[in-house]
Amino acid sequence: MYDVLVVGGGPAGISAAIYLQRFKLKVIVIAKDFGALGQSTHIENYYGFEQPLTGKQLIESGLAQAKRLGVLVNFGEEVLAINGSEPFIVKTDKAEYQAKVVLLATGMSRPSLRVKGFTTLQGKGVSFCGICDGFLYRNKRIGLVGSGEFMLEELDVLKNFSKNITIFTNGEPLKVKVNEYAVITEPIIELLGQEMLLGLKTSNNQFDLDALFIAARTPTASDFAVRMGAFVTPKNEIEVNHLFATNVPGLYAAGDCTGGLLQIAKAVRDGAEASLAINKYLKPKTS
Ligand SMILES: Cc1cc2nc3c(=O)[nH]c(=O)nc-3n(C[C@H](O)[C@H](O)[C@H](O)COP(=O)(O)OP(=O)(O)OC[C@H]3O[C@@H](n4cnc5c(N)ncnc54)[C@H](O)[C@@H]3O)c2cc1C
Repeated sequence: MYDVLVVGGGPAGISAAIYLQRFKLKVIVIAKDFGALGQSTHIENYYGFEQPLTGKQLIESGLAQAKRLGVLVNFGEEVLAINGSEPFIVKTDKAEYQAKVVLLATGMSRPSLRVKGFTTLQGKGVSFCGICDGFLYRNKRIGLVGSGEFMLEELDVLKNFSKNITIFTNGEPLKVKVNEYAVITEPIIELLGQEMLLGLKTSNNQFDLDALFIAARTPTASDFAVRMGAFVTPKNEIEVNHLFATNVPGLYAAGDCTGGLLQIAKAVRDGAEASLAINKYLKPKTS
């Protein structure tokens, strides 16, 4: 039986696990892959690194740090189901675990465009994050995929960097007003470019672009949270209180999956705060 099982080996999960380990709790991290940061080729806004580094480098360093401090990390293992309440039964593709507390640090479900070129061009002009990458494309030709409130939020960020923004609703009706911007409603059929994004093809046209931002999030609640009866917001982010606790006793959440600023700094802070709260939650019961 583990004191805490952390689902997710990104900045939130690893940050939490490091603190939990130092509180002498029995902790395990299960992470299926490199998460959001696996797609990032260029991080230069996180504290402490003089030179830019890739997301993979940052994650690998975090995993190594946690392991050095004694955290058990099962990387490449996928959590499939979490049942019960204290103790939680966590089923993965490799094993089954019991834990008094579960911390969800699964990151955000990011949308994908099911078109040719999308996978290869991520991090090469295709981005999910205006705050992270908008500055790289100042005064460039920016495409923004989306049709609703989420797209509008991203537009609000991107317009600080370029006036040349075209919105692609990808076949969806536009649900919000965007007066000053060109809006293309035809379905996107292909992203162009090999090493870098060069543009995109819709069903009737071709557009030259330097960057394409995706803000076409479809509501996908965290499967675990919903199935366990935890509340989610209308944006399908897991609802937590100031202690990062959900409404389900013993179930906590931290990082991108709880919404807010989708950045490494916030995820690290969430993980640290959640670990303090979890320690307080568990200690009266174990002492
Ligand atoms: C392309 C790109 C570039 C970015 N650039 C920057 C940047 O420059 N600066 C910045 O501050 N932020 C950047 N971000 C945002 C940053 O990556 C996130 O805010 C941060 O990684 C969130 O951390 P997290 O721990 O909450 O989630 P994530 O880093 O997404 O980690 C989620 C973890 O959960 C695991 N997981 C999910 N589901 C399961 C499951 N079922 N079973 C097991 N494990 C599971 C994943 O494998 C992963 O380990 C960028 C994001 C993207 C996509």
